[in-house]
Amino acid sequence: MKGGEFLIKDSRAEDLFIPEEMNEEHRMMADMANDFLDKEVTPYLDRIDAQEEGLMQSILDKAGALGLLSVSLPEEYGGLGKDFTTGMLITEALGAGHSFSVAMAAHTGIGTLPILYYGTDAQKKKYLPKLATGEWKASYCLTEPGSGSDALAAKTKAILESDGKNYVLNGQKMWITNAGFADLFIVFAQIDGDKFTGFIVEKNAVGLSLGNEEHKMGIKGSSTRQVFFSDCKVPAENVLGEIGKGHLIAFNILNIGRAKLAAAALGASKKVCSTSIAYALGREQFKIPIAKFGAIRYKLAEQAIRVFACESAMFRISDYIDEKEKALIAEGKNFSQALLGAAEEYAVECAMLKVYGSETLDYVVDEGVQIFGGYGFSADYPMDRAYRDSRINRIFEGTNEINRLLTVDMLLKRAMKGQLDLMTPAMNVQKELMEIPDTSEGDASQPFFAEYKAIANFKKATLMVAGAAVQKFMMQLAKEQEILMNVADMAINLFVAESTLLRIHRLLQLKGNDAVTVHTQMLQVLMNDTADRINIAGKNAIQSFAEGDEMRMMMLGLKRFTKVNLVNTRDGRRAVAKALTDNGKYCF
Ligand SMILES: Cc1cc2nc3c(=O)[nH]c(=O)nc-3n(C[C@H](O)[C@H](O)[C@H](O)COP(=O)(O)OP(=O)(O)OC[C@H]3O[C@@H](n4cnc5c(N)ncnc54)[C@H](O)[C@@H]3O)c2cc1C
Repeated sequence: MKGGEFLIKDSRAEDLFIPEEMNEEHRMMADMANDFLDKEVTPYLDRIDAQEEGLMQSILDKAGALGLLSVSLPEEYGGLGKDFTTGMLITEALGAGHSFSVAMAAHTGIGTLPILYYGTDAQKKKYLPKLATGEWKASYCLTEPGSGSDALAAKTKAILESDGKNYVLNGQKMWITNAGFADLFIVFAQIDGDKFTGFIVEKNAVGLSLGNEEHKMGIKGSSTRQVFFSDCKVPAENVLGEIGKGHLIAFNILNIGRAKLAAAALGASKKVCSTSIAYALGREQFKIPIAKFGAIRYKLAEQAIRVFACESAMFRISDYIDEKEKALIAEGKNFSQALLGAAEEYAVECAMLKVYGSETLDYVVDEGVQIFGGYGFSADYPMDRAYRDSRINRIFEGTNEINRLLTVDMLLKRAMKGQLDLMTPAMNVQKELMEIPDTSEGDASQPFFAEYKAIANFKKATLMVAGAAVQKFMMQLAKEQEILMNVADMAINLFVAESTLLRIHRLLQLKGNDAVTVHTQMLQVLMNDTADRINIAGKNAIQSFAEGDEMRMMMLGLKRFTKVNLVNTRDGRRAVAKALTDNGKYCF
């Protein structure tokens, strides 16, 4: 399945790799990361947040010694050369490590990958082995005080000296993760004021200085500073990639960063689920554990349903990326070109996953605080840190608004380039609206028949709204952001629900009916709510641009395409909550 094709093609459960099928090596790596988290990170969270001198670096060093910083690097540069899924599993496990996980993600992702993907052989040989072990720590300097989402408007300038040996950088970068201890900075500057270009800058470069640590709402242990360049000399051989092509580095790195952010958010979410369950079982009010109250059971179940759905989408995308990477290697691409190309192919899916993962974590921590009651508001209990640390995820690696806009923008651009035929299925949906509804049932004995039908209809709803909006606004659609947000929400919700359905169906194929009883209830609750979410987003979009008969027809279509089997969602959530409380932790 090509990137973006989820919207127009059916997927088969048997083609999907699910977390329950992880191989021995995957499990071993994930166990190692979990063990590291328990021994080397969790006991030190308070001291990390106090930014105790040298502590973060020493934990990164230990992670480096175990190979945790070099999972995605090729063996020739001291890496483990593992598949993308392994990298995601490690990121997920360490995602519960609060500020440590942010420092690690910045180092291994945006700090290291630009050199792997765009560096010359000499740059790779010089820097990657040091970054792989953690001997050197990396950071990434794109954002400036005046340019965040509009990253290419950066003002930092670079001018080549007359002898051609050095570039001289002048400017200021803002919000730079790991800046306080980084040995290496990936910096973006405009050569001669208009050629946006990447540079590798070492910490002892003359003219580089740091601001003070920012005072932040959360991830307090993560070093975040401004970085100043005042006639800062950078050797000409440290230009990264092609001159004037810095945007390729800046944007392509983010595809992987977004998927990894979701993986980290997933790990953090699972931890908060387990903490919430344990607390709800232990806390008694009115002489019974609060876990027995329907209101609390609802929260526990809903946390778990969203986490399971997020994980299903994450593994689906990881697998797509791994498969594409293998195909590109078979075509003759090297390891780094193949991973870069694979992540670019699934850029739409990575953007959607970033949004869903970060918003799942925000939901989970918010309900976590609520389950803890007053203790949730106490800085001496774990929900305080979880709640504060979650919030940044909707802001960095592209804000969720930017990622929603990108989701639709990238889909439409692929359609315009002829890479993705969205218009034919969109026109077919319009035709279908004029016809008498097809009530033929199909083979209802097939597993999850109703759910597959609902997913096919969710796709129709999304194509109907997106297609009509394109026809209405043509090139002006980019200015209709409210509608683009609605379409993105429709696509994200349907992708996540489909991923969950495929995973549970695959689980049934592998383990039989009994293994998926609770999963099926979880799926039914999710399908029920997904239909409503798609309906409300679609309604908002249609009402924004359609009128009269067209509006009436589309609203009827939306109603038809968001119809799902009526299920008892209270009982569904109760079954999920029972499984959670019986296990005493997140168990799916
Ligand atoms: C703790 C932390 C760590 C960070 N680490 C790094 C790092 O290591 N390296 C680095 O380079 N940067 C880093 N950043 C910067 C981060 O990537 C930016 O903050 C982010 O991209 C948003 O930019 P901004 O803060 O300038 O907000 P703005 O771009 O000003 O956005 C403000 C609001 O407007 C919205 N908005 C902006 N443009 C549009 C648009 N076109 N359409 C609709 N809505 C829009 C945004 O979604 C947001 O809601 C970090 C930030 C923080 C807070």
